[in-house]
Amino acid sequence: MIPSYPRATNLLFWCLLAISLVAILLFEFGPEQRLNILTDAKMSISTQDDRVHGGRSVTTLIADTPKPTLDCRLRGGYDYPFCELILTLTEPGAGIDLSRFEGIRVQLNVEGQGIQAWRLYLRNYDPVYSTPGDESSHKFNEVLFSADDLGMPQDVRMDVFAPSSWWVQRYSIPLSQQGPDLRHVYAIELASDDKMQPGAYRLTLERMEFYGRWGKPGDFYRYLLMSWLAYGVLLFLIEHLLIGDKLRKARAAKLAAEALSQSLSEQNRRTEEEARYDPLTGALNRLGGEKLLGELGEMPLSLIYIDIDHFKGVNDTHGHPMGDEVLKHMVSEVLRHCDSLCRLVRWGGEEFVLVCLHYEQGRAEALAERIRGALEAYPAWPLGLRITASFGVAERRGDPLERTLKRADEALYQAKKRGRNRVEVE
Ligand code: GH3
Ligand code: MG
Ligand code: MG
Repeated sequence: MIPSYPRATNLLFWCLLAISLVAILLFEFGPEQRLNILTDAKMSISTQDDRVHGGRSVTTLIADTPKPTLDCRLRGGYDYPFCELILTLTEPGAGIDLSRFEGIRVQLNVEGQGIQAWRLYLRNYDPVYSTPGDESSHKFNEVLFSADDLGMPQDVRMDVFAPSSWWVQRYSIPLSQQGPDLRHVYAIELASDDKMQPGAYRLTLERMEFYGRWGKPGDFYRYLLMSWLAYGVLLFLIEHLLIGDKLRKARAAKLAAEALSQSLSEQNRRTEEEARYDPLTGALNRLGGEKLLGELGEMPLSLIYIDIDHFKGVNDTHGHPMGDEVLKHMVSEVLRHCDSLCRLVRWGGEEFVLVCLHYEQGRAEALAERIRGALEAYPAWPLGLRITASFGVAERRGDPLERTLKRADEALYQAKKRGRNRVEVE
């Protein structure tokens, strides 16, 4: 399962990249979301004026959607005479979210004498500041269309709206609530500014369309960034797991390899060791003996060549296996008389060479004599046989070992020739 991770993360990378690119392209250059208030929204249109406050201005709605038009007769009689067009979208408690738009395209056409200025309010309801039954407590998000802004389309960004200062003062609105708030807009109002002089005016809402990208850029790019961060974290975790797993496997493989090589070298060592000994008698074999001699360098020593007398006869009379038994007894009896300076080598067949380090001739001869006597007197030969051996002794005296061996062999030959069961020195 683990090896498929890289392919999965690779696939995920390309998918995420493709989705990101398409999303960015659509977000930046794709179609905008639009809401034409005058044609798309359900609303009721009404008017208001200062007569509710005792004034004498008269507002008359003279055309309905798609181009609501009001006739405004501003007259003195109230401190702030005004005419107003009201587009009611919902009940105050409901409202629609206009904060998802980036701006409004508005065109206000006006007629009449004198300079005109009109306020556009987006009325927002929020229980934080709204008081049920008090129409004026709902937030007045306001922008002002001055004379120069009238008669042509204007793009008004949503973040340009700000609460009317009189509303902030009247309801003692805290700083935290003094920004634009467009999440529950229930009405759109156009009111004459209080700088307008008494007179006859006409206002036509020619166009009002909200527009914007499908989401706020901040939110959009935040989500995009978070997706990539999540991908990065996922990748890191997977890599971590993978590398951890690889490391664990590599460590296990290394341990196994070490254990194997250790067991192999141990086996080799044992095999090598075993190869140097004679399995029948436990003495060094010819190979072991030659190795031993090769390692001795110039060391002083004596060699004692030993050959069992008439051994062929033992085999012939009692069989080869019995001959083997005799060999085993003979070796154990020889070794019983040897000290740690001597090594017994089965040089071949029933011939042995005893290598005695730092033994001068006399000492070697004495040892050979002791062994000879011991074999002769050995009480435990199989079948009560009487077995003896002949010995040829040679001290090295600076000779090469082959030469010493040859001399010991010659001494042995002499011992055989002189009647066997004896020790001769060369
Ligand atoms: P000699 O006194 O002259 O040494 O007489 P011998 O019979 O011992 O003569 P020789 O040394 O030539 O004989 C060697 C015999 O040792 C020949 C062979 O049958 C026997 N032999 C050699 N290796 C083994 C062995 O591993 N086991 C047994 N049972 N016999 C062996
Ligand atoms: Mg013999
Ligand atoms: Mg022999």
